[in-house]
This record gives sequence, C-alpha cells and structure tokens, in this order.
Amino acid sequence: MAELKIELISIGDEILIGHTLDTNSNWIANKLASNGLRLRWLSVIGDNDSDLKHQLKRAWNRADIILLTGGLGPTHDDITRPVIAKFFEDEIVTKPEILADLRERFAKRGLEMPANAEIMAEFPKRAKAIRNNHGAAPGIQYNIGEQKLFAMPGVPREMKGMFDDFILPIITSLGDSTYKLKLIQTAGTGESHLEELIGSLSGIEPVQLAFLPSIDHGVTLRISMAANDIDLVEEKLDNALKYISQRIDRYIYAFGGISLEETLIGILRQRGMRLALAESCTGGLVADRIVSVPGSSDVFDRGFVTYSNESKIVMLGINPEIIEKHGAVSSETALAMAESAKDHAGVDIAASVTGIAGPTGGSPEKPVGLVYIAVADKNGSDVKRFRFTGDRQDNRSRSAFSVLVKLWQRLKSE
Ligand code: AMP
Ligand code: MG
Repeated sequence: MAELKIELISIGDEILIGHTLDTNSNWIANKLASNGLRLRWLSVIGDNDSDLKHQLKRAWNRADIILLTGGLGPTHDDITRPVIAKFFEDEIVTKPEILADLRERFAKRGLEMPANAEIMAEFPKRAKAIRNNHGAAPGIQYNIGEQKLFAMPGVPREMKGMFDDFILPIITSLGDSTYKLKLIQTAGTGESHLEELIGSLSGIEPVQLAFLPSIDHGVTLRISMAANDIDLVEEKLDNALKYISQRIDRYIYAFGGISLEETLIGILRQRGMRLALAESCTGGLVADRIVSVPGSSDVFDRGFVTYSNESKIVMLGINPEIIEKHGAVSSETALAMAESAKDHAGVDIAASVTGIAGPTGGSPEKPVGLVYIAVADKNGSDVKRFRFTGDRQDNRSRSAFSVLVKLWQRLKSE
C-alpha cells in the first residue's frame, strides 16, 4: 500500500496577521512523524468562506486524510462547520445529543449556557461529532469512500486532546507504510563541509538525507525512509546512520533530540569535573543554557557576567594592563578571563567569551561580530577568534553556542 497522503489546513486570521504562531501544525506534523506517518501538504488560510472552500476542493482531490484546525467555535467568525457542510452538500441540523452534552457541560460548571453556544449543536447531518474533552466545540468527522476529513478546534489544548484520543488512532490503523527518521547532531563545522565529507549518497539509498542548520544547535542531519516493511526501514536507517557517522565522526555530539549542553554536562559529570564561565557579550546566555539542563548543579559552579572592563578586573581579578594594552575584545583578554575564572572559582575547566555583538561599538580593526572564546583547564588554555555577521541577538546566540562547542571540543580531545 502506498503511503497515506495527509493534508493539513490551519484556519485563522490570527495566524495570517502574525498574532498567533501556528503551533498546531508543528505539533501535528511532529506527532504524525513520530508515529510513522508524514504530512504531505500544509497550508494556512484565514477565516474566509471562499478560501476554505477552495482549499477543501484542492485537498479532496489529492489527499486521503484531510485535517483542519480552527474555526469551530460559536462566534460569527467561526466558519468551518457551515463551509464543510456545504462542501459535502450536507444539511445542518440540530443534533440533540450535542445540545444535551453542551447543556451538561455548562451546568457542571454552574453556568447558564449562552444562547450563541447552541450553535455548536447545529451540526452537519451526515458527519460524526468527535468528543472534545477539553472544551465545548465538538470536532467533525466525515468518512466518504476511502477518504476521511477531521476538523478540530483551534485551541491547542482542545486540538491535542482530540487528535491524541480519537483521530491519531484512526489514522494509524489505516496505512501500513511506515515513515521513520533518525537525527545526527553535529557541531563545529558547516553543512557544506559535512556534505563533502559524506560524499556520494549511493551508499545510503533509498534513505533520504537532509541538512538542518541552526544558529544555536549546530547542523542536524535527518535521515528518513518510508516503506511497508518496518524491519527493512529499520535496517536501512541503521546502515545509513553507520555510513554517515563513520565519515563525520568528529563532529557528532549526539543522536536525536539531545542538546550540546546536555552532552557537555554528561562528559563533565562522568569525569567528575566542575565548570565555571566568564561571559561578556553573551551576558549569561551560556550559563542559562547550562542551567536549563536538570542536574547541572553536579558540574556547574558559577558564571561571571563581566560586561564592563571594571567588572573584568574586579570580579575576575584580571590584570588591568591586559585590557589597556589589547582591549576588552582581544584574544589576550579572553584568555585572561578563562584562566582567572578557573582559578577564582577553583574549578577544573572554565570558558570565556568576549566580543562585539553590535549594532554599535565596532571599528575597522574590531568590527561588529568579532568574538573571542577561550578555554582553560589543567592542560593550559587556548583561544579562538570568530567573526559573526548577524544582528545583535544572532551574534549573541552564535557566541553562546560556540562556547559550548569550544568546551566540548576541548574535553573530547583530552
Ligand atoms: P478557533 O478554534 O479558531 O476559535 O481558535 C481559538 C484560539 O486558538 C485562537 O484564538 C488562537 O489563540 C488559537 N489557535 C487557533 N489556531 C491555532 C494554531 N494553528 N496554532 C496555535 N494556536 C491556534
Ligand atoms: Mg478562529
């Protein structure tokens, strides 16, 4: 059997004007993928009859399963119910069981049911109502021939409950094709270099490979495959994983959903080492990433946020002459910051970062985006120069990630 063709349409003006992020689509896509299924098409439209009609027509012509979120409520802007009914040339009737259910819900909460809530019991005649365990508006299910349509509320909690409890079990029972993916997380080099190292993809066919770069997690490689035979999918993915891993081994920090800070903390914990940080341009971003990992207190001792020259001298005790002579953004200052942080905190390893985040503060010799990152431990210290080209937040995020990378590379090499 071929892979199920699943289409999702997100409905809501709030998404199109940038008021609401379409997290429903992201959640559904993720949920499907982790259940061996894949979205084939995804679109967002406003609360608009003719756009919904148009989109439904297109979806019905190509998809096996159509999912909708949004527009099921009782107010005038909630158009999904009547538009779907019209699309299927169905009648809207008052369904007594939905009305009774609505009355009971309001009564349970000690509330009088507002008159406009009754509209939610006006329901397409041939459709099945899907129970909403987290809200009032029921979902809509149509089964026509081999095709199915499910309309869910837009409120994320209601949508999720309905999808998990009723819709996902139905969809997963339909197809026998399985989609599986595995992730390989890398740091320390770019996607083109990784691609070059991996070389020909004939060794992994028919597995597909995608490169997903990000500024704060490095480049993630996704390998994926869909086929009827789950054992074959597993075997091909395992082989592809081995093939790729052998070629880019030194850049891999994790497989699947583990952050670099978690990897780093794992290594430090295993070696019984403690860490300190001295941050200037990142203003504590690195410490925040470390501390966001549960159990980081096992390895993290302290972070110094030393933004001014004065604070670098007073809090870290670095020699004022270093800053005077080389400037706050220099390899010398970065090295002194890391070494002083290590000694001051009495830890095994320390990292520092100093740079110009921008948009102001740059000069021809020291442009915006110039960043120095140093690491100090019992084997000595070393520093690396970076030149980032983003805006302020971008440069800060990249700097913070680069500190984690630098620490990880040092620990790996020892
Ligand atoms: P609705 O069911 O269309 O009345 O949507 C109710 C509320 O759910 C909206 O005001 C949004 O805050 C939220 N919402 C609707 N659609 C989405 C979506 N695709 N992603 C995240 N939130 C949404
Ligand atoms: Mg809406």
